[in-house]
Amino acid sequence: MLRGVSDPPTEPPELTVSRLLLRGLARRCPLCGGGNLFRRWFTIVDRCPRCGFRLERIEGHWIGALGINTIVSVVAVLVAVVAAFAATYQDESAWVAVGAIVATAIIVPLAFYPVSKTLWSAIDLAMRPLEPDDDVDPRWIPPATRHER
Ligand SMILES: [Zn+2]
Repeated sequence: MLRGVSDPPTEPPELTVSRLLLRGLARRCPLCGGGNLFRRWFTIVDRCPRCGFRLERIEGHWIGALGINTIVSVVAVLVAVVAAFAATYQDESAWVAVGAIVATAIIVPLAFYPVSKTLWSAIDLAMRPLEPDDDVDPRWIPPATRHER
């Protein structure tokens, strides 16, 4: 019998930190790597449709995603400021540079928003391994749930 793409593997791969982070950066479920976690750009589902992993594991979970998004956005704005200054430091009018900086400050947090959520869920899973309360499909739990150091 052919296996479907949603079928769990006979032995899910170990949840290494690098695997978790790559899945988070790809806007995928940290536990099974499945997609379709967003109904719209800003709306994440409660549970992974493939393995049942609850993406908001505790009350206040998303404060971590907010923190990641803030850090990424501030770094992007700093890079934009330096680049804009380097490109226009001899110009009398720097409105294009100001516009580019403002655009960066608006676009980056919005564009990075979904990634910040899945990335934070991956970091959270790396720090707090699965518990029975997570109530996931047990076929997706790797046999060795240890994490790489
Ligand atoms: Zn999943």
